[in-house]
Order: sequence, then C-alpha cells, then structure tokens
Amino acid sequence: MPLIFRKLLCDFVVKCIITNQNIKHHNIIIYFGTQRKRFETIKYPLETLPQLAASKRRTFKQKLKSLKKMPTKEVDREIHQLHEKAFARINCLNCANCCKTTGPLFVPSDIARISKKLGIKQKQFKQAYLRIDEDGDVVLQSLPCPFLLEDNTCSIYDIAPKACREYPHTDMVGQQKIFDLTIRNAAICPGVMEILDEL
Ligand code: SF4
Ligand code: SF4
Repeated sequence: MPLIFRKLLCDFVVKCIITNQNIKHHNIIIYFGTQRKRFETIKYPLETLPQLAASKRRTFKQKLKSLKKMPTKEVDREIHQLHEKAFARINCLNCANCCKTTGPLFVPSDIARISKKLGIKQKQFKQAYLRIDEDGDVVLQSLPCPFLLEDNTCSIYDIAPKACREYPHTDMVGQQKIFDLTIRNAAICPGVMEILDEL
C-alpha cells in the first residue's frame, strides 16, 4: 500500500480509537502494543540503503530480466504479494525516507489541487515550492519535502501529489514496465529492497 494511504489509514484508526466511547483506555494500550509488534521492523538501515542497492544492482537486474519473459499478470501477482508482505510489517511512519530524500513529480492537477487547498495562487505555489529539473519534470525545490512533519506524517496527505500516493509503485499493474525505476527505488525504500531480495 502506498505511503500516503498507510499514513491515512494509521491516522484514521487512531482517530477511531480515540473517539470511540466504547473503547476503554486499556484497549488502546493493547492496540498500540500489538501495532508496535507488527510494525517495528525495517530490515535494512536507511543510511546504508544506497550502498546496499549499488552492491545488489547486478543481481536485481538479472532477476528482473528473467521476469521480463514471463506473463505480465503472473509477474504482477508475484510482486504484489511481496509488496503486501513487506508493507504489512514496515511502518512508513518510522521511515519517511522517500519524503526526506526524493520528492514526487508534480503534475498540473496536483498543483491545482494543492494550491487551491492552501488558499494560494498556483503561481505563488510554484514560486514557493517547485522547480523544473534537468529532465523537464516539476519537482520540489528542496528536500526533505516541506510538507513532511516532525513525526513523519504528511501535512497535506489528503491532497498530496499522485506520485506520493503511488510510491513505491510495487503494487501497481504493469510491473515489467517499471523495472528500472524499481531497481532505483531500492536505494531509497527498504520495502522495495525487501521485495527485490525475496523475488
Ligand atoms: S521509503 Fe518506502 S518504507 Fe519508507 S516511507 Fe517511503 S514508502 Fe514507506
Ligand atoms: S507531499 Fe511530501 S511529505 Fe507528503 S507524502 Fe509527498 S513527499 Fe511525503
């Protein structure tokens, strides 16, 4: 599940618990205890991911090359299962490495939606936050993302760019088309590293 929805789901569940009159305080403690158990493991230290990804790049390329000959649906099914497995345990709120080290691309509909919600003109939003990169893509001027809060939540999660909602893309249809991107993302996302390791 993409980062943004995991954050949304987590916040939603917490709000439900806090606002539900029928749930007693000790239930809340038990709930968080369970979540800590389920979610605390990130197998790879974030600081070493780029080096690790570089050292495994050739192996990952070989694995994915062999998958290119397989039927699309079969490849998608396999990667999606590994995605579910990895993100059932990883808590993005303990990571936020994608928001800290690589920003999303902004498409016109993202810019229109976010500026409207922030109550500023699109031109102002672009001047304050965005730039055109060397590939001609619209990206953030600076990282970590200015919308990332100290607790690793996203201050604009309900209106965040489409690219944030879809990151790291390993649950999308058509995995064979994004193999190169997935290999690059192993340097950023511990979930992707885990998926490629287990593939
Ligand atoms: S880098 Fe991967 S694991 Fe970390 S917050 Fe982003 S999507 Fe989640
Ligand atoms: S808008 Fe920024 S903080 Fe929010 S999910 Fe995207 S990169 Fe992360």
